Amino acid sequence: MRQHGKLEYGGQAAPQRTCVGCRVRTAQSELLRLVRVEDHVVPDLRGRLPGRGASLHPSLSCLELAERRRAFPRAFRVTGPLDVSPVRAHLEGEPRNVM
Ligand SMILES: [Zn+2]
Repeated sequence: MRQHGKLEYGGQAAPQRTCVGCRVRTAQSELLRLVRVEDHVVPDLRGRLPGRGASLHPSLSCLELAERRRAFPRAFRVTGPLDVSPVRAHLEGEPRNVM
């Protein structure tokens, strides 16, 4: 007997996260995980960086929404401004992520 769950699409097994930009709940695998490194927000491309993460659709429009809503300081529980340019550079460097 095969195990049910993890290999099946459309089931309940896929973990979901909320995009900090548009606030849409999406499968975690569709979202870019972001972590804070000091005053910078960086993309956690391998999903291995420690610490509190935020999830974002890999699109500039969601990044801009998140910035406008000051979602990052809230997501990372900091009071000061955060530099999201590493995330922007990553998104701008990947044409397949245009949404
Ligand atoms: Zn989004």
